[in-house]
Amino acid sequence: MKENKPQTTETLNPAEMARLQLEKAAKVMNLDPGLLEILRHPKRVVEVSIPVRMDNGEIKVFTGFRCQYNDFRGPFKGGIRFHPQVTKEEVIALAAWMTWKCALVDIPFGGAKGGVICDPTKMSQGELERLTRRFTYTLMPLLGPDIDIPAPDVFTGEKTMAWIMDTYSIFQGYNAPGVVTGKSLMIGGSPGRREATGRGVSIVARKTLELFGESLEGKSVAIQGFGNVGSFAAKFLSEFGARVVAISDVTGGVYQEEGLPIPELMAYAKESGGVAGFPGVRPIRNEDLLTLPVDLLVPAALEGQIHEGNAHDVRARYIVEGANGPVTPRADEILREKGVHIVPDILANAGGVIVSYFEWVQDKTGMAWEVEEVNRRLQTKLERATVEVKETAERYQTDWRTASYILAIERIQEVYEERGLFP
Ligand code: NAD
Repeated sequence: MKENKPQTTETLNPAEMARLQLEKAAKVMNLDPGLLEILRHPKRVVEVSIPVRMDNGEIKVFTGFRCQYNDFRGPFKGGIRFHPQVTKEEVIALAAWMTWKCALVDIPFGGAKGGVICDPTKMSQGELERLTRRFTYTLMPLLGPDIDIPAPDVFTGEKTMAWIMDTYSIFQGYNAPGVVTGKSLMIGGSPGRREATGRGVSIVARKTLELFGESLEGKSVAIQGFGNVGSFAAKFLSEFGARVVAISDVTGGVYQEEGLPIPELMAYAKESGGVAGFPGVRPIRNEDLLTLPVDLLVPAALEGQIHEGNAHDVRARYIVEGANGPVTPRADEILREKGVHIVPDILANAGGVIVSYFEWVQDKTGMAWEVEEVNRRLQTKLERATVEVKETAERYQTDWRTASYILAIERIQEVYEERGLFP
């Protein structure tokens, strides 16, 4: 199999990707230039300094960001990422994607994103807790269940959300679980939230095939990434009857023509830290997985994995984007010319934010839903959005990514026109 060719001329800057995607949709739908101008800019981006006492007694000052991109349709909503490569531009792009995603699946939220430049793998739990609490305190006037609701992202999780919720609640003087989503169950989390993104990927994949007159039954699937999104996508796709033949993660990849045993692989990866070395199957390199002749390819790891250098070699018929931004704009064009159908990230991975919305509703009402209700409502929302994207693509004679943007922007436009521009 071929080498994964290096990136050539194409940039991977997510801010530029987000801008190109917005402008393309605006052109196809003939969007009012005034609204386009508004949507090209975030409403608010804050940069904060976060002094933290490290375990050795030293004070270290970290830099953090929160971008509140747009709140026409409801409170800002978006994750917080702790990573050494966080930049203001990346946070802005991710906040824009959240805005379109929430509008596309028709939940009453705007879009936001946050990040702190740090390396959590080299920090103690105590240092991470002090960093999170001080970051929360610094952002306090901008947060709230009706203002801006963070959630986990890369290297943040349930524990991080608990610290944010606790810090915010202490300063308010009452418990405010609705200030974050992605919490653990005992402090107001929702059943089904942990699996929601992977479940959503599988629901959207199944519905997409159905809309093209096909069935998921027996279809071959390759999945890049076996973390939260990839592992649950593998589990539900195989439960829906697909054959998950290949999976890779940072440790390596595994292949089995008749389908991998997903529950056993999940248990093995949890125990050993990755899929590499799983007994009784063939190893496969990550770059070779992307070019397997499968029915469905699910990139569920990082941004920019399918690019100008390897898009020509992709042999999958469908790409269902579990990760955010896994296909670059140039690769997108190449794949479309090859006839590969791409289900875009803002549709395919929206299951997580939909169940975050259900969590927020439960927190606000004080009601706890059964997991069956969460899953049923998730399926209804995602299947409806998938049908609407197909109809929009037909209406505008365009691809599904552009159609998803158009649908999202149309929803934002309706609200904007109804509310008007202040002053
Ligand atoms: P995660 O950290 O749980 O898992 C990431 C996986 O990718 C891991 O298995 C890791 O080993 C693998 N990986 C990393 N680099 C790789 C490489 N070079 N080749 C192959 N595998 C590699 O993260 P996650 O929560 O599953 O998120 C994955 C993607 O999905 C991200 O783009 C994230 O923004 C997006 N996303 C996540 C959610 C969610 O609810 N978790 C929601 C929407 C979008």
